Amino acid sequence: MFNFATGLAIWCSEAMTLALVLFVAWRHNVRNEAYLYWGLGFLLTGIGFAMVALRGEIPSVLSVEAGNAIALLGQSAWVAGFLALDRKRIEWWALLPPAIWLAGVFLPWVNSDYSNRVVLYNLASATGATALAMAVAAGDMRRERTRIKLMGVFILQGCLCFGSALTMALTMPSDIEATNLGGASAMASAFLLTIAFAFTCRLIMERSERHLRALTLTDSLTGVLNRRGLLGYFDGIQERAHNEQRQVAVILFDLDHFKRVNDRFGHQSGDAVLTAFARMARQYIPNNIFGRMGGEEFAAFAAVADQTEAEAIAEAIRTEFCRLPVSTGEAIVPVTVSIGIALASSIEANIDKLISAADRALYAAKAAGRNCTVTFGEAEAAAPAPATPSSTAGELVPTVDDQVEALRRMRTLSRAG
Ligand code: GH3
Ligand code: MG
Ligand code: MG
Repeated sequence: MFNFATGLAIWCSEAMTLALVLFVAWRHNVRNEAYLYWGLGFLLTGIGFAMVALRGEIPSVLSVEAGNAIALLGQSAWVAGFLALDRKRIEWWALLPPAIWLAGVFLPWVNSDYSNRVVLYNLASATGATALAMAVAAGDMRRERTRIKLMGVFILQGCLCFGSALTMALTMPSDIEATNLGGASAMASAFLLTIAFAFTCRLIMERSERHLRALTLTDSLTGVLNRRGLLGYFDGIQERAHNEQRQVAVILFDLDHFKRVNDRFGHQSGDAVLTAFARMARQYIPNNIFGRMGGEEFAAFAAVADQTEAEAIAEAIRTEFCRLPVSTGEAIVPVTVSIGIALASSIEANIDKLISAADRALYAAKAAGRNCTVTFGEAEAAAPAPATPSSTAGELVPTVDDQVEALRRMRTLSRAG
């Protein structure tokens, strides 16, 4: 026959071992409070069940009232752990399992009847399992699919506890039958908890993998994508351009005379300029597909309706950068940026050719006096790269200053006429 005390003893030692492992994990990374709460959860359930197992050996108030309350407080700690994992505030409903137990156990008809106490414990535990499912669902379910399985396990656990409470309430079993039913349900619950623990480990591993992957694709200074990260988006942009019958634009940015900025204001100020430019420029690019190619060079990919749309994006960035000189705390650093754009139809777009063409357009922008944008349309972008790029190739986008100057000249000419 099932030995309740042996089952509890096995569970206690397992819970203590897991608590120790989790406390060590928390000491390793004290900022991750989820490990602390989960460790506490196992410690409390371990202590609580040990006290329950000592029924008859220790005073009944310690074994029954306190023991079960402590075990249920362990469930509250697990709920807190899942909320802490998502950096969420710990909610009042996390404390419902021990609260339900303490609210009911002192009622005389519950306190004096063993099967009524088991029913109450199962109801409190079912509430705890529901709270766990709620805490898991509060996170990012779309990105972290393991959460669905984890939630399923907790819902199953809740149904199990609720089902056995209902069965006992309806059948009113004898004390021996209640012990067997309660024990079997507790064992099944512990088994489900082990599965939940395995899923939680998987959730954490997937999350840290995602974090590491994001780090390898991010530029550490500016926080935007690095070259590898940005290139990874090209196929997606090409596909979108194809679906929406748009063109693929590669926009290259190179800060002007950046070496002089470093020489005059110091390398740290140079870094501040790079960061300020990246943060500002990224906002202008649809879906932020913008990254640092290296040094003071940046690039963006966009699916655009036509050349004018690509130029509008580039010019918005260029003029904004001119308008807002970067303040580094000690000095205002005046910097400008030159931009090269290459366009291709979605079918013909080739990443290497487009980057090479945008680079030639950028070279032409530098040759045209810097702080301007040069565009290579489809025909120029498709042409093979010349040994030395021509400074007259490409279409120089008239800047606002150019346009004002042209209007002024026209007015002078009309007056002269
Ligand atoms: P141009 O207008 O022709 O582009 O001139 P430039 O001075 O910007 O170009 P050049 O290629 O001669 O110099 C680029 C400078 O960018 C040299 C290097 O010191 C600086 N640089 C590259 N990476 C970083 C960085 O991470 N931080 C800082 N502060 N400077 C950097
Ligand atoms: Mg450069
Ligand atoms: Mg430069």
